Amino acid sequence: MLVEVLTDPGSSAPAALVGEPRAAERVFALAGPEAAVLAAAGAAYRADGTGCGHGSGWFLRRLAAHLLTRIVDRPERPLRDCLADAVAETAALHGGRCDLARHGAPTASVTAVRVADGRLDHLVLGTGAVLVRRGAAAHAAADPAGERHAAGARPAAAAADAVCGSAPLPGVHTIALLDGGAGPPPDPPTAVRIMEQAGAHGLLAHMRADEARRNMPHAPFGAVLLRPR
Ligand SMILES: [Zn+2]
Repeated sequence: MLVEVLTDPGSSAPAALVGEPRAAERVFALAGPEAAVLAAAGAAYRADGTGCGHGSGWFLRRLAAHLLTRIVDRPERPLRDCLADAVAETAALHGGRCDLARHGAPTASVTAVRVADGRLDHLVLGTGAVLVRRGAAAHAAADPAGERHAAGARPAAAAADAVCGSAPLPGVHTIALLDGGAGPPPDPPTAVRIMEQAGAHGLLAHMRADEARRNMPHAPFGAVLLRPR
C-alpha cells in the first residue's frame, strides 16, 4: 500500500472571529497501510471559554487517534461503531471542566477507510468525501447532510449520521479521503486522475490555483491518498 498524507492550513490570515480555531488547528490526518482517518474542524466551535477549553486541534488529534486505533484493533467492528467508540473516548478525556452540552464544544467532519480481509470499508460524516477508482470508474462517497453533520460529544448521533459502505478490495486502484478547501472540488474522475499523476500535493496545487482564480481564501485542506499494490 502506498500512502500519502497531506494537511495544509491554507492562507495565514488571522482568525475571522475571536476564538475561532487557527487554520493549522482545523484539519488533521492519520494513516497506515490498513486504515486512514481525516478529521476537519466543524463550523460551530468557538473557543469562547464557555464550552471546551481544549481547542479544536486537541479534539481533532484525539478523535482521529482513537478512531484509527479502534479501526485497526477491531477489524470486524463496523466503522460507525468504531466512530461511536472514538467519540465516547474523546468525550471522556474532556474532564469535568468542559461543558460538552454547550454549543461551543468542538466538532469535526470525519472520513475514514479500512482495508481488511479483502474488503474496503468507508465512513463519511460531514463535509468530506471518500473517492474510489475501480477499473475505469471513479466514484465519491459523501454525506448529503454536509456541514449539518459532525462528530461532537454524542456517540450515538455520530454513528447514526455517518454514511458507511463496504466493497471488495480487488480491482480498487486508488482510494482518497478529502476534506476542506474553499472552492468546489474537482469531479471525482478528475480529482483521482490528478492525484494518480501528481499525488495529493498535485491536487492541492490544483485547488489552490482554482481558489486564486475565484478570489477565494485558501481554506484548510486535508487529503489522504492510498494506492493498493
Ligand atoms: Zn474540552
